[in-house]
Amino acid sequence: MRMVDLIHKKKQGGRLTRAEIEFIIAGCTSGAIPDYQMAALLMAICFKGMDRAETADLTLAYVDSGDRIDLTEVEGIKVDKHSTGGVGDKVSLIIIPLVASTGIPVAKMSGRGLGHTGGTIDKLESIEGFKTDLTRDEFISNVNTYKMAIAGQSENLTPADKKIYALRDVTATVDSVPLIAASVMSKKIAAGADAIVLDVKAGSGAFMKSLAEAGELARTMVEIGKSLNRKTVAVVTDMSQPLGREVGNANEVKESIDVLKGKGAKDLTTVALTIASYMTVLGGAFADLDKAYSELEQAVKSGKAIEKLKQLIKVQGGNPAVIDRPEQLPQAKYHVAVKSPESGYVTAINAESIGVSAMLLGAGRKKKEDRIDYSAGLTMVKKIGDKVNTGDTICLLHTNLEEHGDAEAMVRSAYSFGAIEPGRINYIHEIIQ
Ligand code: URA
Repeated sequence: MRMVDLIHKKKQGGRLTRAEIEFIIAGCTSGAIPDYQMAALLMAICFKGMDRAETADLTLAYVDSGDRIDLTEVEGIKVDKHSTGGVGDKVSLIIIPLVASTGIPVAKMSGRGLGHTGGTIDKLESIEGFKTDLTRDEFISNVNTYKMAIAGQSENLTPADKKIYALRDVTATVDSVPLIAASVMSKKIAAGADAIVLDVKAGSGAFMKSLAEAGELARTMVEIGKSLNRKTVAVVTDMSQPLGREVGNANEVKESIDVLKGKGAKDLTTVALTIASYMTVLGGAFADLDKAYSELEQAVKSGKAIEKLKQLIKVQGGNPAVIDRPEQLPQAKYHVAVKSPESGYVTAINAESIGVSAMLLGAGRKKKEDRIDYSAGLTMVKKIGDKVNTGDTICLLHTNLEEHGDAEAMVRSAYSFGAIEPGRINYIHEIIQ
């Protein structure tokens, strides 16, 4: 088999066989296929696509490129959750204790943030002492004892995806449905999930900007999950603006604490409770979604959910005092108000620009090796549909950088204003199962 022939075949719109996909992924992982040929193939896939069978074969080839996590020692149905990535997306921080409070085991492996999107591991590490490098035995034992554990992804989980993702990032080939679907689903399958709930983001802060694209990605992933015998549900959620009010790390932990205390923003609370409801139904805790949703609301009201977060922090070595005294989380030196340049309604927010601004303030990484400042970030004081007058504060920047003019200008231009009140935004757009 020659890679050049396979690139040509895909360029002409042909379909790759399982053997051809296995050849490509094995060659890419070992280094036998050079990056320039891989990049050419990725671009051909972006233009010509892959059918469902090819996408499922690519998913399995990614899984087989590295280790599979064996969770057979964890009792119960292991339900995993994955977000396709957004801005202000702290849903994982909320659902881990919330779902665990119902007795369903949550064995969560998460990543770090890169570019305009944040990562759950970074957010949790903003809590002093919180440890995410658990050994396999600690991880399994915590899940069995407390019904929850969170750890960074092991180095050898889907190494082909890691390599190809890095290549996609620099060759403008990220936003392809089959490539995203295989990347996401392979990580969930390699991580040992029995059932999977996918939070597919749609809008300006997501890879999929339109609802049609997000729906297509959701349907592709659900079909792959089912074809590999994993119960899979996809919830298409809104990312036309940051989720909740906080974007950063420590401030997102604070906002997650608020949600678990029943004082969270409506959009974030609705999305987190919906994802958690599907997880508990797939895990067998509740018979239907309505029952799950009301029981989870009750777990928040009764204080059971926030106690579970306190337990997670304590068990993983963090300072649990932040639950009652969030001011003990890292705080930035400067808090800069961005003012509205006009009067009217906020009609749109470019969430990707907000994510990039947070990164410029120190909250994210431009390159994988960059260190992040846990106290940096921003607070969305005004969101779509809010009425503003000239000079009102629309956003607060939190940073330790004296020079933050670029971020400030970017935030200002991320907001659009108009005289007519925009229509209400749905938090949940579509459910695919
Ligand atoms: N998230 C992933 O894990 N992979 C992608 O390709 C895009 C988003």
